[in-house]
Order: sequence, then C-alpha cells, then structure tokens
Amino acid sequence: HPEIMIAYGAALSLDGMFAGNSSWYMPKHYLDLLENPELRAHLQASADGPLFFESEEEHRAFNERHQLPEFTPYVPQKGETIHAYLGIDSGSTTTKFVLMDEDENLLDSFYAPNEGDPLTIAKTALLTIHDRYEKADAKLDIIAAGTTGYGELLFSKAFSTECHVVETVAHARAADKYIKDATFILDIGGQDSKVIRLNDDGSVKNFVMNDKCAAGTGRFLEMMAKTMEMSLDELSKVGLSYQEDITISSMCTVFAESEVVSLIAQNKATDDIVHGLNKAVAAKTASLVKRVGGEEAYMMTGGVAQNQGLVRTLEERLGTKLVISDKSQLCGAL
Ligand code: ADP
Repeated sequence: HPEIMIAYGAALSLDGMFAGNSSWYMPKHYLDLLENPELRAHLQASADGPLFFESEEEHRAFNERHQLPEFTPYVPQKGETIHAYLGIDSGSTTTKFVLMDEDENLLDSFYAPNEGDPLTIAKTALLTIHDRYEKADAKLDIIAAGTTGYGELLFSKAFSTECHVVETVAHARAADKYIKDATFILDIGGQDSKVIRLNDDGSVKNFVMNDKCAAGTGRFLEMMAKTMEMSLDELSKVGLSYQEDITISSMCTVFAESEVVSLIAQNKATDDIVHGLNKAVAAKTASLVKRVGGEEAYMMTGGVAQNQGLVRTLEERLGTKLVISDKSQLCGAL
C-alpha cells in the first residue's frame, strides 16, 4: 500500500519519539476535540461577514447588477415559418450558438462543453430545436449561418456556412449591439483570456491575449474547483464572503494547485482560498489590461463572467464596475 506508507511511517515514528509518554488517547478523544465549540467557532467565523461589501445594501446591489436572468426560447406557433440567422461560437472548451430572427431578437441559444466532439454536440442540439419546431407544426428556416472561435473554420466547412469571422470582431460586434459605451472587452474563456480595445465606432482597435498557458483562464479555476472538490457554481459564490486575505503566489496551474493543497492542510477556510485564486486570475487579467492600455468602460464576456466572486475581485482590482450582459457566454455567437 504505497499510498498509506507515509502515514504508516508517522505512526511508527511515534513509538520512538514518545517512548516515555504514558497517556493514551482513544479515537473518541480526537472526535471530541473536533467538536470543541471554540474550534468550531473559529472555523465558523470564516462564513460570517463579507469583507467585500461594506453593507448588505452594497451586496444586494452587486447581486442585482450581475443577476443572470433565465432565458426562455421562442415557442413556435402552428403553421408559422420562422426565418432565423444562426451564429456558432466554437470555443476551445465549449460550443455555443444562437438563433436570431430577422429583427435581431434572440429566438434560441445553446451552451455546452465540447466533450471532445463539438460538431456532434452542436448537430444534436440543432436537431433537437428542429424537432421542436416540427412537433409544433412550424418551420425553422435558417437564412444564413456564421461561425467564430477556435473551431471557426471547422464549423464553417462542416455546416457550409455563409461566413466566418475572427473572435475579436464577433465580440466587438456583440458589444456594439448590447452595451453601447463599452471601450474594452475582457473575454475570459476556458483556455484563453483576452482584452480587446475598441474604437469609438465599436470596431477593434487592438487586443492582447494570455500566453499559451492556463494561468488566468477558466481552466485554471476549473482545476482548482476539482482540487477543492466543489462545483463551478459553488466556486463562483464562495469567494464573495472571504475573511482572510490570502495571496496565492503561483500563477502556474500546477504550482497553484500544490499551494491550494497546502492551504487546505493548514485548515484555511475555503472562501479565503477561493478569494486568493480569484485574486490570482484578476492580477493576470489586470496585467493584460495594462498591456493594452486600459481605462473604463469594461464589458466582460466569456463563460468566466458567470463567476461572481471573480467579477467582484476584478472590479476591485481594476477600480471600476464591470458591465456584463445577460448573454455574456453567448457574445461570440451573437
Ligand atoms: P471557450 O473559451 O471554450 O469559449 P467559455 O467562454 O465558454 O469557453 O468559458 C468556459 C469557462 O467558463 C469554463 O472554464 C468555466 O471556468 C467558466 N464557466 C462556465 N460556466 C460557468 C458558471 N456557471 N459559473 C462559473 N464559471 C463558469
């Protein structure tokens, strides 16, 4: 049993180290220690008061600003034909698409992990929508389709789309439609993060991207969530109520993971560790912002915009409020 060898060694060494010690404890003693009210109170303190917000009012205002409304897809009526545009954003980790009517209203959308086969994922989702129209005795007519993202060319070829467009332009186009006064877009996705600077007319002026490593991206946060055995949803929220300002000094995912493991071993509160991770991602993003020469007003796009703790940490780091559309995950596809 190599996995328990070291614990075995710890037990064996006690014999020599405490040979003259006569007191013996039963397992119950250790369990009682864990139930100790003082120790519990200390552990509980971490969940008590949010440092991020000076008042409940401020906390509520933040939640309202970043609330994610439920989107209800259009319900087709019997006998009608809906003409729609299809936009597909094939990212490195997720596939998303939108269907838009001729007046640019959102009819339907899709967002899911690639699972190694983005074409099949998208095809299945499109067929499901097609079936829904057919069942309602309606017809869905795709006028034109466009693609963007990592799989821009793959999808364009596979679905014989009319156009394909680079990701930065797609994001800028969505910003222009949904958030008029945005001058910067922070796009943090699964494996890359970008800062795009816009011209007054909404076109792309320039942009910078992270280097080829997961630091500062959604993948970094996903791996940490796995290490801490929590879901992404939990990870997104717990950082909001930190107590101790922990700094994770490693940007590298592998080293950061061992830092997290050692913080867990030091019994640090989960909220505080997650806040430390959020600070690491915010620092990385802030350095991209600096390179592109950032000022206000920032719009945030990409899946990581769903992470409320990170959004708040970024707002603090950049000293501004981030504008996040309710369609932040779909911006490229839009
Ligand atoms: P891609 O780079 O493939 O386009 P996305 O922009 O969809 O990826 O971003 C994917 C990342 O978004 C994931 O790695 C994850 O960290 C984050 N993410 C997605 N959904 C959520 C969510 N509900 N809460 C927190 N983070 C999320």
